[in-house]
Amino acid sequence: MVLDLTASSLDLTRAICDIPSVSGDEQRLADEIEAAIAPLAHLEVIRHGNTIVARTALGRAQRVAIAGHIDTVPINDNLPTRDIEIDGDPYLWGRGTVDMKAGTAVQLKLAAELTDPAVDITWMWYDNEEVEASKNGLGLLAAVRPDLFEADFAILGEPSNGEVEGGCNGTLRAIVRTTGVRAHSARAWIGENAIHRAAPILARLSEYRAKEVAVEGLLYRESLSAVRISGGVAGNVIPDACEVEVNYRFAPSKSAADAEAHVRGVLAGFDVEITDAADGARPGLDAPIAQQFVAAVGAEPRPKYGWTDVARFSALGIPAVNYGPGDPHLAHHDEERVPVAQIDAVERGLRAWLTAR
Ligand SMILES: [Zn+2]
Repeated sequence: MVLDLTASSLDLTRAICDIPSVSGDEQRLADEIEAAIAPLAHLEVIRHGNTIVARTALGRAQRVAIAGHIDTVPINDNLPTRDIEIDGDPYLWGRGTVDMKAGTAVQLKLAAELTDPAVDITWMWYDNEEVEASKNGLGLLAAVRPDLFEADFAILGEPSNGEVEGGCNGTLRAIVRTTGVRAHSARAWIGENAIHRAAPILARLSEYRAKEVAVEGLLYRESLSAVRISGGVAGNVIPDACEVEVNYRFAPSKSAADAEAHVRGVLAGFDVEITDAADGARPGLDAPIAQQFVAAVGAEPRPKYGWTDVARFSALGIPAVNYGPGDPHLAHHDEERVPVAQIDAVERGLRAWLTAR
């Protein structure tokens, strides 16, 4: 199978969703994308691992980076895709339709179609976005080819309901550990129960009231949550260890170091190990090119709560926004589904802006 980039964005979305590409398993889809893009004479194609870059070199005054990840969270009986209808409106249902293969499909189609865009374009399709930051294909590429990231503006096709979402919250993960003493549960009083000792951690997290923080006029909502808990030895053993994994999503006005200090403060008295942290991104919507983009696609800017790779561009000083089809609330959801009308609208919006002279 070779992808047909002249197909509709809907058909292309269906085709790339039906090639499963859970994080770490993107090679087949990356091969398909490379095979479809490589013959296009107007694009220089660079592959690094399972990340593919295709760029024009037309000598335009401005360059825009447009990126989409090709991996998904694990499949849960939600592939192959299906065409469904909700209240008379057509949707494409299945893993990846929202996060974010509809956005990536629109990009692939326009990459092939726009041989003479008004700006130079660096298209980027990358792997391992849904897992720890150290595996992120865009990050790995930036480490070896920072020159590919030169741009005046960046657009990530993450689901935003076809609106323009500026910036994003940062994210931090931590493991909070409790220890105890093993004993036979028939004589529990001899031991010390590490799982029971985790109860105050959970109490602090459930009592925690997250803030809303205004940054450049957009209101970012934070959260601090337990996302995993593990412990226990056997059905008759008092456990001597317990781990609670915590995820803090913080406003882009805070650095990862500020976020770490906050989490350590909330969980003071416990053994806290920070395992992963990434700064958020300021909205960046004051840049003229960002304002032109917002006006051209006719969307209202909103804050993005989830961390996305706009932060990577923002860290390089490049204003970056999310603009893609699909409801972010349905990302990672087993009933993930994208309205066909939004796929078409984002395709029209991007095409209009990229060809406006
Ligand atoms: Zn995503």
